[in-house]
Amino acid sequence: MARDAGDVRRLASSAPSLGHLDARVSVCRACPRLVAWREEVATEKRAAFADQPYWGRPIQGYGAERPAVVVLGLAPAAHGGNRTGRVFTGDRSADWLLRAMHRAGLASQPTSTHVGDGLRLLDARMLAAVRCAPPANKPTPAERDTCAPWLVAELAMLKPKVVVALGQFAWLSAFPALRQAGGDVPAQVPKFGHGVLAPGAPTVIASYHPSQQNTFTGKLTEAMLDDVFATAVTLARA
Ligand code: SF4
Repeated sequence: MARDAGDVRRLASSAPSLGHLDARVSVCRACPRLVAWREEVATEKRAAFADQPYWGRPIQGYGAERPAVVVLGLAPAAHGGNRTGRVFTGDRSADWLLRAMHRAGLASQPTSTHVGDGLRLLDARMLAAVRCAPPANKPTPAERDTCAPWLVAELAMLKPKVVVALGQFAWLSAFPALRQAGGDVPAQVPKFGHGVLAPGAPTVIASYHPSQQNTFTGKLTEAMLDDVFATAVTLARA
């Protein structure tokens, strides 16, 4: 079990398979602040979910094992992935994301509500740059760096053709992780903006995060998200 950054580096780089990596991620305790927060949230719970067990642990990637498209988020939501145990599952961001992925042909259904809901991702996988729910959705730079080897190891195994980065945090996390994973991506990271595309292997596409902050205000519309996924699918199938 990883108890510090050195453990994460060692266990991530030596994982012999995606299954081993997932298992090692799921018991990680390397970031004391995030471990305390994820467990506190899982104990106190939101009133609406008081009758449900919370996962309260790190979140693995979910989807195909050799996907053409990887969707990279920031971190699990306190009452979303941290509750349900699956990334982008059980919150409003998941509602938006899965509707778009379903319309693009990357998901078997337009909803992601709980681990037994039958969702299958089609040639796609969803990951979080930081695998534990952070207070206020804000991991510290040290927590981001501590968690990065899990992302690097997973990207090296997946070898996607396209990465869709949801939000600036994921965008900035994607490039160094992809380089360390053997990808050929620009050394100079382009400025983040919705629809910005960084050609390479893989190509990285920026999208505004489907958080309520963006979707309620109209900063991100369903049409804008559809455009990003249409581009991702076109590039993945080229
Ligand atoms: S954020 Fe990452 S490195 Fe930190 S405890 Fe969670 S899984 Fe481990």
